[in-house]
Amino acid sequence: MDQHVKPRKPVILLNIDSLMPEPLEIAVQTGRAPALKFLMENGSYISNMVSSFPTMSVTIDSSLLTGTYADKHQIPGLNWFDDSKNEIINYGTGFRETNKSGLRKTVHNMLYRLNNEHLSSHVRTIYEELADRGIQSASINSFVYRGNTPQKLQVPGLLRGLTRFKDGQWTAEATSVFSLGVFSKLRKRSVATQIAAGNYKYTARELRHLIRRNRLPGFTFCIFQDLDFRIHFKGPMDIKGIAKIDRQIQKTLNLYPSWEEALRRNIWMVMGDNGHAPMGSRYRDFMIDLRKILKKYRVARIQRPIRKKDQIVLSVNQRMAYIYLLDEALPLSALTEKLKKDSRIDIIASKTEHGVHIESGTRTGSLHYSPGGKYSDMYEQTWHLNGKPNLLDLTLASDNKISYGDYPDGLARIYGALYSQPGRFIVVNAKPGCEFKAQSTPFHLGGAAHGSLHKQESLVPVVIAGTAIKPKHPRLVDMKSFLLGLLDH
Ligand SMILES: [Zn+2]
Repeated sequence: MDQHVKPRKPVILLNIDSLMPEPLEIAVQTGRAPALKFLMENGSYISNMVSSFPTMSVTIDSSLLTGTYADKHQIPGLNWFDDSKNEIINYGTGFRETNKSGLRKTVHNMLYRLNNEHLSSHVRTIYEELADRGIQSASINSFVYRGNTPQKLQVPGLLRGLTRFKDGQWTAEATSVFSLGVFSKLRKRSVATQIAAGNYKYTARELRHLIRRNRLPGFTFCIFQDLDFRIHFKGPMDIKGIAKIDRQIQKTLNLYPSWEEALRRNIWMVMGDNGHAPMGSRYRDFMIDLRKILKKYRVARIQRPIRKKDQIVLSVNQRMAYIYLLDEALPLSALTEKLKKDSRIDIIASKTEHGVHIESGTRTGSLHYSPGGKYSDMYEQTWHLNGKPNLLDLTLASDNKISYGDYPDGLARIYGALYSQPGRFIVVNAKPGCEFKAQSTPFHLGGAAHGSLHKQESLVPVVIAGTAIKPKHPRLVDMKSFLLGLLDH
């Protein structure tokens, strides 16, 4: 499209991976994050925006960019099993937690299949919708990037052998302004210090390049992926990481005659994607080894193709896991009974005909729910509920209003994970302090982890400056329609 529509105020959305409300507030109050402080004081601050489920970056970014949960966008997690192709899918975590043998596959999954095969064609990204209206977008450092401008991605030198593309080069439909680590750069001669992710300075330079050249499109989405890695090892209260990224935001705001002028010209938003839960440090107490609990069954091994005699597949996403049943003779209830004996598993969820069945290792009884029905929550969703609401820490008022406790927007988020793909499987959620383990999954004893439905990982901060408008509900899944509304006039 040649005719570009310029919105009155371009929107710049900065996603700081693993930014959490408490450390952010401390960083701001102690003078270590002056740029974030300025944006907060001159805008609005929401400390409890609800993230997606599992609380893993690819699922969250897909929710943010499509405005749907996993039942619609169909990215079940960082790790999942594709029943239709009989294949274990792993997107890696920014190429840092991937072992060598899996790297080739991970690069292909993360850079190509996620956007081109797995992300449902029935949903539209904000980039696709904005392009329809003639508004251009920029995506900087995001692994979820589907748009409708063909962009060349190039895998450099030594890494070329890791892809399944001839000469390590391929074309993908992306945003019209597109930057992703070494694979696609805005400044052609720049040197990315990391393959992708873990390069906040590089990411910020790409953003500043757009501002300097006056190339900022209507909507810019930019991810800083450095904090996550630090927090997994250092624990949730890492202020230093926030201060470092804040310095980059300061430099960006400094490109304008004044910070106030930056706000007059653009809408600036800063958000987190998931929180972290501090992990216990005793292996025996806090690591839930699913292979041990389900030792009676033959578990598929990740380094080889699925075999006929394999009965189950385990896909661990830190504090949540998918347990797939390949053996048709094996009833779901047999596995649920075993899982229920472990008091570190607080939610055990499976599909029923149209709904969801919940059991627990920490609470007795069961809960069944499905969409529609006489109960409603604060997000205007309605539900049929049967059984014990305390299994999901729900409170029911006399007017049939549901309120959520430990699991924000829990009904829709569990439903999203369970209906993210066809097939027979169970979703398990770990109680605070605990984490799942299967074959060669990374774990974080004494550090921090995420993935679960619990509020400590699910509530993230968002700062909105340059407009007085706020999202209808503080949910990440409502951000897309909020952004479209801002860009429409
Ligand atoms: Zn992480």
